[in-house]
Amino acid sequence: MKTVIELVTDKLFQEVKEEYEKHGELSDNILSSLNFVFGQPLLSALDLVDRDCVSHVTTPCQKEVYQVSSDSGRTYTCPATLQYCPCLSYAFGVVKRGELLVCKHILAIQLSRATGSCKEVQADDEKVSVILFEQDY
Ligand SMILES: [Zn+2]
Repeated sequence: MKTVIELVTDKLFQEVKEEYEKHGELSDNILSSLNFVFGQPLLSALDLVDRDCVSHVTTPCQKEVYQVSSDSGRTYTCPATLQYCPCLSYAFGVVKRGELLVCKHILAIQLSRATGSCKEVQADDEKVSVILFEQDY
C-alpha cells in the first residue's frame, strides 16, 4: 500500500508528464507545486535533466538501474525502485535527518521519466554487474 506522500508525488509526476507532453514545457503552477513538495533539490534536479545527465540502463533479462552523472564527475547508480541513492545527501538529508523527501539524483530520474528525457541504454548483465560493482558507496 502506498503512503499518502507517494500518492501525492505520483499524481504530481503524472501532471508533469501530461503537461510536458501537451506543451513541451512546465508551467509556473507545476514548478511551484514541485518546489512545494521537494524544495531545495528541485533546481539541481532540473539542471541535471536539462544537461541530459540521466540514463536508464536495461538488460535483455529485465534488470534495470538508473545512472545520474554529476558535475563532480561521479556517477550515481540508483535501483529502478528509486528507494536508494549512494550520495551523501540521501544518507544524511533523506535517511538520517528526514529533511528531504528525495535527493537531487532521484528527483532528476523522476523528472526525466515524466518528461520522457531519460537516455535509454541497453546493456548486458555483465555490464550492469560491473556498474554495480564499481559504484562508490
Ligand atoms: Zn543522490
